[in-house]
Amino acid sequence: MKDRRFILARTRLLVPLSDALGEDTRITDGYVLTDGSRIKEVGCYSPERGREIVAECGSELLVLGAEPKDSYSEEDIPMLDGVALPGFIKCHGHDHESPIIGISKDEPLVDWLDHTVNMFTGFMNTRREELTERFGKSPNLIPYLKARLDDIHYGITSCLVNHTSFNKYRIDDLVSANLASGSKMTIAVGSSDQNYDPRVMETIDQAVDRLEQAQKSFGETERVEIIPGPDQIFSNSPEMLSALKNWADRYGKLVHVHSSEEPDTTRWFAEEYGKTPIEMAASAGFLNSYTLLAHQCNSTDRDLEIIRESGATVVHNPLANTIIGDGMPPIIRMMEMGIPVVISTDGAGAADNQNIINAARLAAQYQKAYHRDATLLPSLTLLKMITVDAARALRLNAGRLEEGKDADFIILDLKPSNLVPSRADNIIENIIWAADGNEVQWMVANGLLLRDDYRAVRLDEKMIKKETQQLSELMIEFRDRTEEIVATGIRGEQN
Ligand SMILES: [Zn+2]
Repeated sequence: MKDRRFILARTRLLVPLSDALGEDTRITDGYVLTDGSRIKEVGCYSPERGREIVAECGSELLVLGAEPKDSYSEEDIPMLDGVALPGFIKCHGHDHESPIIGISKDEPLVDWLDHTVNMFTGFMNTRREELTERFGKSPNLIPYLKARLDDIHYGITSCLVNHTSFNKYRIDDLVSANLASGSKMTIAVGSSDQNYDPRVMETIDQAVDRLEQAQKSFGETERVEIIPGPDQIFSNSPEMLSALKNWADRYGKLVHVHSSEEPDTTRWFAEEYGKTPIEMAASAGFLNSYTLLAHQCNSTDRDLEIIRESGATVVHNPLANTIIGDGMPPIIRMMEMGIPVVISTDGAGAADNQNIINAARLAAQYQKAYHRDATLLPSLTLLKMITVDAARALRLNAGRLEEGKDADFIILDLKPSNLVPSRADNIIENIIWAADGNEVQWMVANGLLLRDDYRAVRLDEKMIKKETQQLSELMIEFRDRTEEIVATGIRGEQN
């Protein structure tokens, strides 16, 4: 079916997170109307307004949950038993990890990276020719498309993808997958020039040149933003960080890096260089309000002060941090200090899924238990950390349902038993505490329909799942017949 200019959704409940209406507004029998890639209006539904909309929009209207027609009448507009809310925004993830769930669990970060991520990206690189022939396309497209499917499954309409390690060379495939899926993507292009496997290291000139090329090729591409994403502070010299930040500043762009994630590496770094990773990044001029720090689990008091003064945002990834045993960042203290904190999933390999509702819930459960304080991180705050605040962090015109914002919204099905009873007074709480994340029944992003009654409409879901399964089986075969790829150079020194 051809895309239509207007999309109308009428739902039993609506949570707009709107500035104008008040962030805690919960509408009963509400509607969202999009016009092209923007939201036209949001409010309480009335049959009268319904009649006007079908008359005004004519054959360019698509009504969610109704049989597509060239001309709807008001009676055709169903009230969906769901809740409409802004699409979720993920500020830290790795699309290349989508096929590597459930591998090398119960291992610390550095071992897991070598046994899972580097093994997989190495396999994709060294077997590229063979895999291209077998699948009849660039094999990297398979994980990238699977990642788009996963995001759609969990209601994520915008994401930041950090493109690291061997994988950083396939930006074109990542862009293709994003265009095919209809989502919005910030691509943080990876780099490393120290403490890493020589096969993935490069010079500063090479890293900057690759960014420049990516910007030239995709700077104007719709729904794509190219930014520097040095893999880790430990794997990038201060000169590299400085050059990448200068490049970003020239274009007014964000920068993104993994920072102080795991305790051993963070400790080792401070001993080796006489500075914490944050002190090093600050001395390289890498930190300001355009900087996104993924993790920051292990901070000194001085680190937190430096981050606060810089205005940088911390991206908290509780699923990955707890599974890998990194520790959890002191987000309550950070937020009290005024450091912007958002919640994300990290890649599917570390988190084993992209369930961003679950990530928000875990963040709250941990902090409430740790501080023995149930009042911390109420549901509305958590919901904002994966919508409104995340949009601000990625500089997106999204995260709220109000006129002029990007037409990004999802409808969670309220029929599953776990979400009964849902009412206006408990809906925000239910989204965080009772939803299991699988209830995304409809998704609209940038005014395009991405999910229609649980069906991905722009992607070949069956093919993507089949190829991902095949690719993962080949990769496991490869693992059993090859030597380990150690791309995190500090592992030997730690042991
Ligand atoms: Zn990560």
